Amino acid sequence: MKEDIDQKYNLTQQYISEGKQMKQEEDDGQYFQEPETYTPVREEFPGCYNFQFSLANQDSSKHWVYSPTLRKVFINMEETLPLRFKWEPALDGLRVRTAMVFSLDQYASDPVRRCHNHMATNNTNNRDIDPRLIRHVVRCLDHSSMYEENNEHLSVLTPLRTPQAGSHYVLMNFKFLCKNSCPSGMNRRPTELIFTLEDARKQVLGRRRLPVRVCSCPKRDKKKEEAEVGDSQANTKKRKLCISVGKKMTPSCDTHVFNVQLNIIGKENYLAVMKYAYDIMAGQATRTGQFEFFKPYMDDILRKTP
Ligand SMILES: [Zn+2]
Repeated sequence: MKEDIDQKYNLTQQYISEGKQMKQEEDDGQYFQEPETYTPVREEFPGCYNFQFSLANQDSSKHWVYSPTLRKVFINMEETLPLRFKWEPALDGLRVRTAMVFSLDQYASDPVRRCHNHMATNNTNNRDIDPRLIRHVVRCLDHSSMYEENNEHLSVLTPLRTPQAGSHYVLMNFKFLCKNSCPSGMNRRPTELIFTLEDARKQVLGRRRLPVRVCSCPKRDKKKEEAEVGDSQANTKKRKLCISVGKKMTPSCDTHVFNVQLNIIGKENYLAVMKYAYDIMAGQATRTGQFEFFKPYMDDILRKTP
């Protein structure tokens, strides 16, 4: 029992420290507005809304493929990548900003833009569109998306609204209109998508990243890149195991499920207990990466929360 309490205490501490991190990132959000020395921030954090995304319908498309080893998407140009975004509680009024950035630090401050060829006015993808969209590699198919530019860095801002009844996520579809191999554009440099959860004042409340390669043969390139990391991957696995033992496994080892039946006086108190139970599991799921294990129990709490 004491262990349980200690564990809860640790989890609470962790949760609070995530909150602190969020505040720091909010400051970064303001820095985002500053001119000069602009380098996109890529550190992931769930924030107080436990911001998450997942890939939808992974196996149904031939046009894109996900590598769990590389945690990377390989996709054809002009094909749709469906992503599901989640945040808790699912308040209205938040937005997701999607920016494509270079993964390697030495190119981090270079803006990702389409190549001259794909920006050409006779390109079919450029017909009848707002001229402000032309330089953007990434398009969000949500019609209320706004295309923005900050110190030449491009991003698309999409209102999240709220999930449909019975659903806990919002689906967004993205398209890519230039390839990583294009010489006058990304020029073979690896890229990733950065998703930031933002409020109306553009304060950053959470951040996620997804490496993406836009190419002609997603399956072939996936195999190739997976082979390239081959040897180093074996070492990484060893390292990961060490980290797991030292850091990850400790909070996630106890997977016993305890059923609690309590009578709580007052609706607010009841909601507070439910929220606490949800938050500690969400925090642990984030730290351990075991979302699949935690999800049904978290969903169960949501169902029982009026
Ligand atoms: Zn191109």
